[in-house]
Amino acid sequence: MNKLAIVVPCYNEEAVLRSTIESLSLLLDEMIPEKDLCPDSYILFVDDGSTDRTWDIISENNKTNKYVRGIKLAGNVGHQNALIAGLMETKSSCDMAISIDADLQDDEQAMKEMIDYYNRGCDIVYGVRSSRETDTFFKRFTAQTFYRFQRKLGIDSIYNHADYRLMSKKAIEALSEYKERNLFLRGLIPSMGFKYECVYYERKKRMAGVSKYTPRKMIGFALDGITSFSVRPMSIIVASGILMIIVSIIALGYSIFRKVRGEVVPGWTSLMLSVWIIGGILTMSIGVVGQYVAKTYIETKERPRYFVDEKLTEADDEKD
Ligand code: UDP
Ligand code: MG
Repeated sequence: MNKLAIVVPCYNEEAVLRSTIESLSLLLDEMIPEKDLCPDSYILFVDDGSTDRTWDIISENNKTNKYVRGIKLAGNVGHQNALIAGLMETKSSCDMAISIDADLQDDEQAMKEMIDYYNRGCDIVYGVRSSRETDTFFKRFTAQTFYRFQRKLGIDSIYNHADYRLMSKKAIEALSEYKERNLFLRGLIPSMGFKYECVYYERKKRMAGVSKYTPRKMIGFALDGITSFSVRPMSIIVASGILMIIVSIIALGYSIFRKVRGEVVPGWTSLMLSVWIIGGILTMSIGVVGQYVAKTYIETKERPRYFVDEKLTEADDEKD
């Protein structure tokens, strides 16, 4: 029997929380016998420093509902950190954890399929939106451009997957080895390796309340997604510096040619060339310094180099 923990980060979710608790409890009632889950499976709500009645609702339900557990963070630390807090909390008391947003925009029924994949040996199962019709045009456009851009920068991420996923205990333990502060789980988790699968579902509209991802949080999140995985922007700066130097060499030929023909006023040639050459050298130098800063940045993260997926221990003595 496997014990499941459902992890739900909540920030000012009083408008949806009661109905979320109800839906998830019903789902557990159904799944426990159907998927042979341990009856102590539970839902862990992580209150990310809410200023409304979120925590009161969690604590009230904790008294009456056997599935409801909660942790309250001291302040608002953001969705990704709240998620990590929840996963780390469950690490020692479950066999697998599924994270889902409090507004249940992601279809909770997909959990059943996730568990089937877990039973077939997957350590990570990603929930993937099969369409984004319920998102506004702005959100859809910005998100999809971002995914493409990330891929161009060489970052591995699952297209249209948000943080709705199942992770086995082994994968959560691996995740706990990452010490970095600048978190982008959607990029980090695929980079760990481990056997995975995707399940597809339709994303719904938020049932109540408003999105807690303000444009500012969204931009910060997108920047984290790029800068915490790729130092390619630095290489682009170096490349553009080199390009400028090449341009200046071409300009050198051209301006000498015009000078010889006597077409230019005195001083133009040297001015033109110094602007380009100095510009090129400066850009390239900034890029080179940036490369070292980037290396230092990567080293300071102290990311684990690998994870062991399976181990074969010594052959049994009885076998010989
Ligand atoms: N959230 C959080 N801390 C924050 C912002 C959001 O824990 O600072 C939670 C929020 O309660 C929800 C999830 O993150 O469970 C996703 O937020 P939301 O549904 O508002 O984002 P959207 O679906 O609009 O991207
Ligand atoms: Mg939402």
